[in-house]
Amino acid sequence: MWEELTPQRPKAEALAGDLKVDVCVIGAGFTGLSTALHLLEQGKRVAIVEAHETGHGGSGRNVGLVNAGMWIAPDDVEAGLGQAVGSKLVAEMGNAPSLVFSLIDRYEIDCQAKRHGTLHMAHNASGTADLQSRCAQWVRRGAPVEMITGAACHAATGTKRIDAALLDRRAGTLNPMAYVSGLAKAVVGLGGLLYHHSPVSRLERQGTDWLVATPMGVVTAEKVVLASNAYTEGEWTELRRNFFPGSYYQVASVPLSGEAAEAILPGGEGSWDTRQVLSSIRRDAEGRLLLGSLGSAANKPLWAVRAWADRIQQFYFPQLGKVQWQSTWTGTIAFTPDHLMRLFEPAPGLVAVTGYNGRGVTTGTAVGRAFANYLLTGSREALPMPFQPMDGISAPGLRSGLYELGFSLYHAGQCLRVVI
Ligand SMILES: Cc1cc2nc3c(=O)[nH]c(=O)nc-3n(C[C@H](O)[C@H](O)[C@H](O)COP(=O)(O)OP(=O)(O)OC[C@H]3O[C@@H](n4cnc5c(N)ncnc54)[C@H](O)[C@@H]3O)c2cc1C
Repeated sequence: MWEELTPQRPKAEALAGDLKVDVCVIGAGFTGLSTALHLLEQGKRVAIVEAHETGHGGSGRNVGLVNAGMWIAPDDVEAGLGQAVGSKLVAEMGNAPSLVFSLIDRYEIDCQAKRHGTLHMAHNASGTADLQSRCAQWVRRGAPVEMITGAACHAATGTKRIDAALLDRRAGTLNPMAYVSGLAKAVVGLGGLLYHHSPVSRLERQGTDWLVATPMGVVTAEKVVLASNAYTEGEWTELRRNFFPGSYYQVASVPLSGEAAEAILPGGEGSWDTRQVLSSIRRDAEGRLLLGSLGSAANKPLWAVRAWADRIQQFYFPQLGKVQWQSTWTGTIAFTPDHLMRLFEPAPGLVAVTGYNGRGVTTGTAVGRAFANYLLTGSREALPMPFQPMDGISAPGLRSGLYELGFSLYHAGQCLRVVI
């Protein structure tokens, strides 16, 4: 759907022949393109090699929530990482929507961006308590967040099922494929060399340089950024051992108009609920209703996925009556056991990242800028958190399988009304 709604997607040839640049970026998503953009702004020569096309990974498939902060509440981040590291990470991720919206302004990226906030919706009393605690934690840190309750909440969300929600005014929504395409256009505009259909098959050190090999060409670079994240292809990297893949699917309606449709999130916020297997809810610029949840739609018949969408829509927005669904798609998320991302520097001049845990619009953009500053200055102060060893996580395949099973059972329970 995002592809269809983004006619301005960039075109690029495959890499053919040999090339020498300062930095080679692997992967044309938010992380890779933000890195490239910030390096190019400082006059570096950069090539981006992408296995498919810009936005092929999570960056072209996501919900489009421009989130502030991480999944984990700020106090928990600081408790887990220690005060100094944790508070820096919390502050940088809290401010990350500003970075996204400022790039959109600076490069005039047409991506239907709305800075109207997000609404995290409490689905029950424990959800409300969790959101109240998060709200208090962010308020202590000076963030523009507030709880809205009762009739005000019903009006803001468009559903009488939600009595309390956390409004975060730092955040917003966009068309993710248009945002990543706009980043690519800006990169090319600054002289960046973007190559599509150029899967990296080998990465090796040669003297002080790196050789990045693709089927028809080789990039020689002083530094390499591995920004392939959850979509990493090939056996040449250890990155895949450091996250476990999980799926997320979305179902989008045809454009909806009329009073009942316009009453859903009338302020233009993006939203998701506090269920452990959450539902995300937003409307796009043309009034489509987008529902999403954890799990794969690719391994289920279409009717089963649409039955889930019907159930969620009728539960939250019965006033719409029967909705016609137009598009369904699935993407892969890189999860880590503690829901924190991982930054790596496995060898001098080589940096990598993974584990955004489903929060990459802001995180990828911010990590890209941080990687660029690190590669330019050599100062680890530029990074939002320290590098970690590439030790791998235990049983990634088992974790992925158990998650998917759990998600499917939960959705079946929702459809059968066992889980309310
Ligand atoms: C369905 C879904 C919904 C989500 N919703 C949200 C949301 O609402 N808000 C939010 O903030 N985050 C969301 N996320 C997470 C977010 O989309 C990701 O964290 C983010 O896109 C990661 O960006 P990236 O640039 O690091 O990686 P990607 O966008 O995955 O890009 C990696 C690129 O590397 C390329 N690549 C892989 N291997 C190679 C190779 N060998 N050679 C060359 N290129 C290679 C891939 O083809 C891909 O294009 C969602 C994710 C999914 C899947």
